[in-house]
Amino acid sequence: MSTISPSALGSSSRTRLKPLPFLDLSRMSDEVREEVLAGWAELTRTGQFVGGDAVTRFEEDWAAFCGTRFAVGVANGTDALHLALRALDIGPGDEVVVPANTFVATAEAVVLAGARPRFADVDEDTLLVTPEAIEAAVTPATRAVIVVHLYGQMPDMEAIGAVAERHGLQIVEDAAQAQGAAWRGRRAGSVGTVGCFSFYPGKNLGAFGDAGAVVTSDPAVDARIRSLRDHGRAGSGHYQHDGFGMNSRLDAVQAVVLSAKLRRLEAWNASRRELYNRYWELVDPAVAKLVTQVPEATGVVHLAVARVLERDRVREDLAAAGIATGIHYPTPCHLSPAYTEYADRPLPVAEEAAGQLVSLPMFPHLTSVDVARVAEALNAVAPERTRS
Ligand SMILES: *Cc1c(COP(=O)(O)O)cnc(C)c1O
Repeated sequence: MSTISPSALGSSSRTRLKPLPFLDLSRMSDEVREEVLAGWAELTRTGQFVGGDAVTRFEEDWAAFCGTRFAVGVANGTDALHLALRALDIGPGDEVVVPANTFVATAEAVVLAGARPRFADVDEDTLLVTPEAIEAAVTPATRAVIVVHLYGQMPDMEAIGAVAERHGLQIVEDAAQAQGAAWRGRRAGSVGTVGCFSFYPGKNLGAFGDAGAVVTSDPAVDARIRSLRDHGRAGSGHYQHDGFGMNSRLDAVQAVVLSAKLRRLEAWNASRRELYNRYWELVDPAVAKLVTQVPEATGVVHLAVARVLERDRVREDLAAAGIATGIHYPTPCHLSPAYTEYADRPLPVAEEAAGQLVSLPMFPHLTSVDVARVAEALNAVAPERTRS
């Protein structure tokens, strides 16, 4: 907790708290700067800006990290999901189950592929999709489920696997928020047929711009994604187009950043877990109900999310104490104006939670002193503003 000395404030004798950001990427950038600049210098000499060794190296390292045979770099996480669905031949006439509590891109990818999202409710404590909710959303047209490892934690993948098998569904993992997470030791992205990642700068592994990847252990799916991301090109020729694809390649400039950051990802994730445990110890559960971390899941705490009553006033109190917060997400997907045509029934947990969610500061270089400061400010919120 840093205060500014009265002399630093000139004539004022007030002490002021340094603002605490919700997310600060600068220290992560500091750690990789030299390595990234050296890698970029190399690219300017070789001219391999699209594709090339830097991309191949990252793809190999990312597949190894996830425990899959293949990884394909793409332009962003939304494309990763869209291309994964297309690689599985999911399109018009098909339905895909999507949790109602997720970033809109999960549902957007389904619509981009020409299919229809079927929204499913989430668990009270983890806010992740449940096997029961998936089952309740299935119809004869349902071909797949996109399991979102929201906030960095995986749901019960065995129970979801059983539901998927019973109904003949493919499992696509949206692991955009879960780089390095695991369920009973199996890494995010490696459990379903396909795993999709975003490397948007704010993710646990973030590029210096947009980037994404698809991982799979199925050689046919790998080959289809490679072709789809590159204008439907066949391996045999630059102007041979076997399929209708698009341009969604990973830039070498971003691959260099991702390789440098990947070497630090486990340490950064460990730091996030420790900080979250500290929140768990210090935050009064009568004030704010933090998202439960399930023992079988090794979460990577992309976001530190809690539920509070009177959310807007809680956020104002924290802001007055210099603490920035976020909301993930204020509107469940099925109630977003663009998606109301897919909202066919109430999803009570997601709907109630959306009005109560608050995301507390979380990034690897946050300190336990910062966390104590947030917890203190949160616990001091007046009782009528909290859970009963
Ligand atoms: C970030 C994110 C995406 C989309 O990734 P982009 O790289 O921004 O396209 C998809 N799903 C979830 C859960 C995300 O958090």
